[in-house]
Amino acid sequence: MAFTNEQLERYSRHIILKEVGAKGQKKLLNAKVLIIGAGGLGSPVALYLAAAGVGTIGIADADDVDLSNLQRQVIHTTKDVGTPKVESAKKTMEKINPDVKVITYHTFVTSENILDLIKDYDFVIDGTDNFPAKFLINDACVMAKKPFSHAGIIRFQGQLMTYVPGKGPCYRCVFRNPPPKDAVPTCKQAGVIGAMGGIIGSLQAMEAIKYILGQGDLLTGYLLTYDALKMEFRKVKLPSNTDNCPICGKHPTITKLIDYEQAECDGVHL
Ligand SMILES: [Zn+2]
Repeated sequence: MAFTNEQLERYSRHIILKEVGAKGQKKLLNAKVLIIGAGGLGSPVALYLAAAGVGTIGIADADDVDLSNLQRQVIHTTKDVGTPKVESAKKTMEKINPDVKVITYHTFVTSENILDLIKDYDFVIDGTDNFPAKFLINDACVMAKKPFSHAGIIRFQGQLMTYVPGKGPCYRCVFRNPPPKDAVPTCKQAGVIGAMGGIIGSLQAMEAIKYILGQGDLLTGYLLTYDALKMEFRKVKLPSNTDNCPICGKHPTITKLIDYEQAECDGVHL
């Protein structure tokens, strides 16, 4: 596949990087990334992956754009209120970069459909806002041997980690089970600073891009936390012993996917 003149210009700041080059840009154009959730985290991920020329981007979300989303979900505009988030996201991504094929899934991700959704993708982004979805994505990605980026945001705080099969702990190694329903406040109850989605979502996009390029160190085996009020990032080393994990361990006790009770809560265990 040869680049067109337009592509050479569009991706010139990538191609000039020794870690990317023409070869890396081709890897990006051939890559397939699935973003689950077109909200506060999914918006910046989708914008940066589309701009970077990730050739196929899937985006899954069951919701419509709500006026209260626009304070942080920057892929949607005021005009999009009331339309499906996946359609609004696709429209913006195609405007940014016509090289990108956007595939929309206007549906809730459940134990019934997740393995089918992730099977054709190279990397998965968890941009969801609730624990049942986060555990479901983890377990499905472990079972299907798919790398993924986990993240969560609430108030002035965010966190992320990256799972790569065989390379380090999964989300369940660290956070064994979802917290009890209603034990953790939701973004709706607790609030979240809009820029937090931009910061943490951009870091997720960076992890996906590095994974595709095969460059640098990923957040495997580490949890990165960000406290915006203290302006403090902490990279916490996670235990490397995954043997006893109920999903990725030597003797998994979880052998089928679980739909936990859906509590609208956020994904930060802080
Ligand atoms: Zn595990």
